[in-house]
Amino acid sequence: MRALLLEDTHKFKMIEKEIPEPKEGEVRIKVLSAAICGSEIHGYHGKHFGRKAPAVMGHEVCGLVDAYGPNTTGKFPVGSRVVVLPQWSCNECRWCRTGHPDLCDKRVMLGFTKWPGGYQEYFIIPARLLFPISDVYTDQQGTLIEPFAVGIHGIRKAGVKMGDSVLVVGSGAIGLMATLAAKEAGATTIITTDILDYNLERAKQVGATHVFNSREGDMVEFVKSVTDGVGVDHGILCVAAPKLLDQTVQAVRKLGNIAIIASYTGPVTFEIEKSQLREQDIIGCVTYDEEDFRIATSLAEKVHPRIANFITHTFPIEKAPEAFDLVDKRKEDLVRVAFTF
Ligand SMILES: [Zn+2]
Ligand SMILES: [Zn+2]
Repeated sequence: MRALLLEDTHKFKMIEKEIPEPKEGEVRIKVLSAAICGSEIHGYHGKHFGRKAPAVMGHEVCGLVDAYGPNTTGKFPVGSRVVVLPQWSCNECRWCRTGHPDLCDKRVMLGFTKWPGGYQEYFIIPARLLFPISDVYTDQQGTLIEPFAVGIHGIRKAGVKMGDSVLVVGSGAIGLMATLAAKEAGATTIITTDILDYNLERAKQVGATHVFNSREGDMVEFVKSVTDGVGVDHGILCVAAPKLLDQTVQAVRKLGNIAIIASYTGPVTFEIEKSQLREQDIIGCVTYDEEDFRIATSLAEKVHPRIANFITHTFPIEKAPEAFDLVDKRKEDLVRVAFTF
């Protein structure tokens, strides 16, 4: 089978590999489409702890059930089109057993060096990690379920509910999905920020009631102006710029909370007193659990019209160098770039 190997930093090579055999409890997936996530761009730059060359990356995947391992059955017959929850966890530790596979110490994501992912024709995954995908989705659009689950996880951890006000900082793919999840959770004031106007247009499309270009003024002032000077109930941080944590803390009301979805890789300073004296909660968010995927797939059909245009580019897997360069340099207006096989 064909596989896209990240050989070295910024270097890809198409290679031939044996088709892998699923073991007991596992299933083999035939890949229909896999998208490029920000975390894969970190891998491409040699800056991701788990996606290190040589690796076959790819974790936002839509595919077909190709074969189950010995003594293994699943609710999806061979030939079914599915999406996968691309997170391996031990299923035995305290965190796995209490519904927090994202906190498992042994957690590995699909496409890490240890677990060859969706940038190849077939990959292996535990059979329990398959989810259905509505027929209204194309194969490429099916890859959007994973980032939607990331947004849902952050919104659920923040406890967003009917009538709440939410600030979503950053409207790349994850910020857009968090905006969409906030809307679906019933938030009535949703302020989404970015520095790119076309991202803000998409934020409106998925439910932002207010958008703000942070190049054009003070985000904190803007949020206060929308919320009668009080601040929002929840701040959802979706871009890892160091100064944005401090600004988000200031834009959130007393007793409000801040959910951090963005992947910070270095230390960040902020005036902790500003948060402490408001009795705010700061919440860490890592990927998702099965409940997030259940919610994402059950809302999929309903939200499809609003996210259908998020696959802005499609490339055959052989054109990966071109596709990665496009995403890395943001050469064009894009949300998600997906591969075909
Ligand atoms: Zn992702
Ligand atoms: Zn575990």
